[in-house]
Amino acid sequence: MQGRADRVKGSGTDLTVVDLKTGLLEDGVAPHHHRQLLMYAWLWDQQHDVWPLHGAIEGLDGVRRVVALDRSEGEDLVAEALSRVDAFNAATGFDGLEQLANPTADACRYCDYRGACAAFLRAVEPDWEGGGRTFAGEASQVQAHGAVLNVTVAMELGNFVAPSTQVNLIGLPLGIEVSAGQWVSVVDAASTASPVDFRPRWQTILWSWDERPAP
Ligand code: SF4
Repeated sequence: MQGRADRVKGSGTDLTVVDLKTGLLEDGVAPHHHRQLLMYAWLWDQQHDVWPLHGAIEGLDGVRRVVALDRSEGEDLVAEALSRVDAFNAATGFDGLEQLANPTADACRYCDYRGACAAFLRAVEPDWEGGGRTFAGEASQVQAHGAVLNVTVAMELGNFVAPSTQVNLIGLPLGIEVSAGQWVSVVDAASTASPVDFRPRWQTILWSWDERPAP
């Protein structure tokens, strides 16, 4: 469940979730707007552990239509929404966004998400990305050498065959947040004279996770 209220006003436990609306016709808070405010309150509570006591719809006239937000009503509403999503997914056999992915060289070329896209990482071919090298696996070693950082990766996915499963991304700037034991993906790195060493270039994407993402 994701979303973000336009504003949250107040302090302490006396908070009001405010949603701004253009073209507002009602004088009060319509039922569908009330449900929306309850969901925003639920999201706020999940993140900040404070249930906003009120919600408000604000039109272009600057007038706020205020309604009390009942916590149990909000929790019931969210539970019902989530169970409907589950029922829909079960009925359609949909098991996640992964099923919608259809990676190709052209489709993925400019996608910022490809370092996190398992479908892309499994499908990427040697000639995609103008010959850039892509690989993913657990970072087995992270070492600073002078002013640069080198990361050794136990490669499990990649668009090339290396003489060793341990490959290196060398010459990263210090300060890049990656540590041994993390799962990393490196997209579109440059080859070097060594078949196991690769360098970042301006378009290289590096992602890291504390735990291996879902396959
Ligand atoms: S890398 Fe991007 S464009 Fe390609 S399949 Fe994954 S999400 Fe879709």
